[in-house]
Amino acid sequence: MSFVPIIDPAAPNCPLCDTKFIRVFVDRREYYICKRDMISINVKDPFVGRWKEIDNKDEPLLCDNPKCRGRLKWFGRSDGYMKAICPNKKCGFTVEITGEEIKK
Ligand SMILES: [Zn+2]
Ligand SMILES: [Zn+2]
Repeated sequence: MSFVPIIDPAAPNCPLCDTKFIRVFVDRREYYICKRDMISINVKDPFVGRWKEIDNKDEPLLCDNPKCRGRLKWFGRSDGYMKAICPNKKCGFTVEITGEEIKK
């Protein structure tokens, strides 16, 4: 798979590491990707840029580590994929959920 990165000053920040997403073309579709967190999202996905907004409305996601219980940073897509990380470096808790598992 090859892709062409595009410099996009309007790209949102990755909600996990807070650096700007890289915009790429893959098979004529455009995605935002973060190489560090290994995540990607279609630029037209309604979740783009809304992670913090949604986070404020809902109950905050807390770290699963009983010694930590910090507030997780999270990324999600409309297909149900979700990744959350604990910003506490001593903890390092990470969780990744695919669309199949998230259905309640
Ligand atoms: Zn990132
Ligand atoms: Zn933690």
